Amino acid sequence: MVLATSEEPAMSQPAMEQPVWLHRLINADVFPTELWPALEAKLYRRLCENSFGLMCCHDLDGILLWVNSAAAESLGYSPEEGLGARLDAFLAPETRPSFASYLERMRCIGFDSGTMRLTTKGGDQRIWMYRNTLSAEPELPPLVLSHALDITDRFRGERELIDLNSQLETRVAARTAELQQLNAELQEFASVASHDLQAPLKQFQIVLEMLEAKSTDPETTELFRDGRLDIERMSSLIESLLNYALASSQMRPPARQVTLTTAVEASLLSLASSIAASGAVIAYEGLPPILVDEVTSVQLFQNLVGNAVKYRGDRSPRVHISAQPQEEFWICAVEDNGIGIDPAHSRKIFEAFHRLHGKEYAGTGIGLAICKKIVERMGGRIWVESQPGFGSTFRFTIPR
Ligand code: ADP
Repeated sequence: MVLATSEEPAMSQPAMEQPVWLHRLINADVFPTELWPALEAKLYRRLCENSFGLMCCHDLDGILLWVNSAAAESLGYSPEEGLGARLDAFLAPETRPSFASYLERMRCIGFDSGTMRLTTKGGDQRIWMYRNTLSAEPELPPLVLSHALDITDRFRGERELIDLNSQLETRVAARTAELQQLNAELQEFASVASHDLQAPLKQFQIVLEMLEAKSTDPETTELFRDGRLDIERMSSLIESLLNYALASSQMRPPARQVTLTTAVEASLLSLASSIAASGAVIAYEGLPPILVDEVTSVQLFQNLVGNAVKYRGDRSPRVHISAQPQEEFWICAVEDNGIGIDPAHSRKIFEAFHRLHGKEYAGTGIGLAICKKIVERMGGRIWVESQPGFGSTFRFTIPR
């Protein structure tokens, strides 16, 4: 190769159509300008032949004139095979009818892009994403220069993902329907079982009351009384279990919506006798005018206020119900001046059947577990702050 020297003035005057990199080589005195026309075609051809991109050239009748190795290999051919054939011979059968309109677009617009399906020599299908332009050199017939990427694997991967997703959705929907059915059956079972268990218990309780009233022997009277109390406990356990099952159930039909104040007042009304018996003073203030599910909210306050009155110490019970906004929640508090709770148990007491006391305080150990379920179903959480001997404050959040 003849290297250019810096004395030659022609070399410092690059022709306008020369690419930038060539201009640099010429200025660096490594590339003689006069060699460019002969080399340009060779260099670009090498570049195209070795490219990973799929390249080919066809005329406006669709006759294949040139193809690079990557394009030929993508379809399982050698670059020479197929030259002179019409391109639609390589198209997947369902794509062939649109080939004429593709050629028409190339002829009229001189540009086209999109995807096409092709058939390999072995009969498989490949998907090419292409971007074709029409070269209109005056000395040549119009030629379509095609550049494409084989996106078959990507396409299949995405397709598989979509299929998997829809399979998953179908399975989740079927499982959800199954669970809803089971839930409904369980709920049905719980209410039937509780009703069927409660009725004979009530009968039994009445009989024991009568026997207790008629009994003259103190030992027998005590036996009747213990039996009656046991039945009372069993009856309240059955009722709590039913409430717990209902609070867990997603199937419970939505109840009427009432304001928080109405729910608090309804719960106090249902606790009227124990409030009066204990001499408790209950106050509530600052409750926001938000709407809540009537049945569950009344039950929530009934359990919390009921406990506040039940777990009283020597002082007469004082219960304060309030609410404060905090970020996206209302924090409701039920504060009492009762016996308090050791912080070591502050989590455990929200588990079903976890009690800190024996018979001295009647109970089933389910009340707070029900509260937790109710609050969580409203999208909030519940906790207690307390010290033994210093009362307890139960707090729960309600989304605003
Ligand atoms: P129950 O009252 O039927 O035992 P709960 O689930 O309502 O069941 O409460 C669980 C336990 O938490 C109670 O046994 C009691 O030891 C404790 N507890 C609940 N509320 C209070 C309260 N306000 N003050 C002190 N202890 C409480």
